[in-house]
Amino acid sequence: MAHVIAIANQKGGVGKTTTTINLGACLASMGKRVLIIDADAQGNATSGLGIQKAQVEQDIYDLLVNEVPIQDTILHTKNENLDIVPATIQLAGAEIELTSQMAREMRLKLGLEPVQDDYDYVLVDCPPSLGQLSINAFTASDSILIPVQSEYYALEGLSQLLNTIRLVQKHFNPNLSIEGVLLTMYDARTNLGAQVINEVQSYFGDKVYATIIPRITRLAEAPSYGQPIIDYDPKSRGAEVYQDLAKEVLEAHGK
Ligand code: ADP
Ligand code: MG
Repeated sequence: MAHVIAIANQKGGVGKTTTTINLGACLASMGKRVLIIDADAQGNATSGLGIQKAQVEQDIYDLLVNEVPIQDTILHTKNENLDIVPATIQLAGAEIELTSQMAREMRLKLGLEPVQDDYDYVLVDCPPSLGQLSINAFTASDSILIPVQSEYYALEGLSQLLNTIRLVQKHFNPNLSIEGVLLTMYDARTNLGAQVINEVQSYFGDKVYATIIPRITRLAEAPSYGQPIIDYDPKSRGAEVYQDLAKEVLEAHGK
């Protein structure tokens, strides 16, 4: 059975998509079968893995709203072992359309069932909001990986996220846990960084990954070439840190 991890933080620009793409590609390169679910209408995980949106015929919207079988939405990426359910801008309508539908919170969970045994890890790239799409992601997931940007007010807004997690645990998914908290875009040149690390560690304790993702220009460049960092610049610091993160994730699951 696949382990399903939602990558979530309702703040935009904290590194959710970068983490989804690069953690996914690193796990795949280590021989794990990985499916990425792009649950953000911006479709950045889709384009960041080299998929042209104009060529997408059926996407996550069709899976969630029209209950199209997941097999009809999955695309292979250029990376071995790495598949994706893409997103296009039509997903923007899903929040409202799902509101009037039956079992709306369960759509992704039910949609994933047919391929549960085809993958070792499913990573869901969540949108920057706590609406129906995130609720679907949390209901379908075993755990949540929270990227936190290393900046002032890093913890701001996280209580809202934790509240939503609690609500989903109570109503839809009692087994949902926190996979880990990942510090991103760390800038060693400022004193601020160390202070933020302390603050986040005192709040989340051993849930915080030992791996910290620095601010690295190459990581921001890779998506415009449609490549994960391990392909765009395999020997770079960015490739190294995301491989470290993948090892931590594998160790946590004993595989
Ligand atoms: P989110 O999905 O949370 O909105 P993204 O992963 O899209 O965040 O990151 C926001 C922006 O910051 C993107 O332009 C991305 O390329 C860039 N970025 C993400 N992580 C890093 C990093 N470690 N170093 C430098 N730039 C980064
Ligand atoms: Mg994103």
